[in-house]
Amino acid sequence: MYINSSKYFFLMKPITFFILFLLPGVSLLNAQDAGSDLKWPGEYQAAVCLTYDDGLDCHIDVAVPALDSYDLKGTFYCTGFSNSLRNRMEDWRAITENGHEIGNHTLFHPCDGERFDWVKPEYDLRTYTMAQMRDELMTANTFLAAVDGMKERTFAYTCSDFEVNNISFVDSLRNLFVAARSQGPIPESMDMVDLHFAPSWGVVDPTGAELINYVKEAQKKGTIAIFMFHSVGGGYLNVSEESHRELLAYLKSNSDVIWTDTFMNVMKYIKTTR
Ligand SMILES: [Zn+2]
Repeated sequence: MYINSSKYFFLMKPITFFILFLLPGVSLLNAQDAGSDLKWPGEYQAAVCLTYDDGLDCHIDVAVPALDSYDLKGTFYCTGFSNSLRNRMEDWRAITENGHEIGNHTLFHPCDGERFDWVKPEYDLRTYTMAQMRDELMTANTFLAAVDGMKERTFAYTCSDFEVNNISFVDSLRNLFVAARSQGPIPESMDMVDLHFAPSWGVVDPTGAELINYVKEAQKKGTIAIFMFHSVGGGYLNVSEESHRELLAYLKSNSDVIWTDTFMNVMKYIKTTR
């Protein structure tokens, strides 16, 4: 269709004005947003979360006494079928009364059976449905609330898997949890961290120096170091008692500049500060 430009000049003018002056202003605002990063409380350079997966006896017997001796708090991701939780529920309840966090790690620890040959067919995420996964997570939340009385919960992806039948369930758990822990490198900026897909390092037999260097990297970047431990002091995906204590000693002696807290507390801070 032919349009007489002179006839539409006055109509075009506000549009031109918008493109020339208002749009650059809008993009400038966005650029400032993107550049602004999170300010940690006080003098803290970085945050550290110590998380422990699968609800093991060594968490109660080795990890918690070490944490308590340095007055540091940890997050413990328990499955509903954890033997330790079944046999020693009072011990688990007691650590939450002392400020440690118990997080949701599903009921049955389903994982992708293609990646791991130990996954039982009934707990293979490839054959789960979205509704089944959501129901399992909600039931685990109810179960854990009966243990510690907490109404809010964080989650750790089992095997860091986040798909059922090749479909991501990350979005479907956003309203179930304050935050969720995945796997990945130290973030370059806090703006890029999805609180429901937070990166962590799944350690396997690290030295104390390696653990400390990971924290130093977060300090340098001003972001966050999240550790994913399993066995402490012997077992699968182990960290030795000595390496674990070396890390805790470093965190304690630098507690003026490093904020070590539960995943729940750190993620809540990020959420309210953004
Ligand atoms: Zn696990």
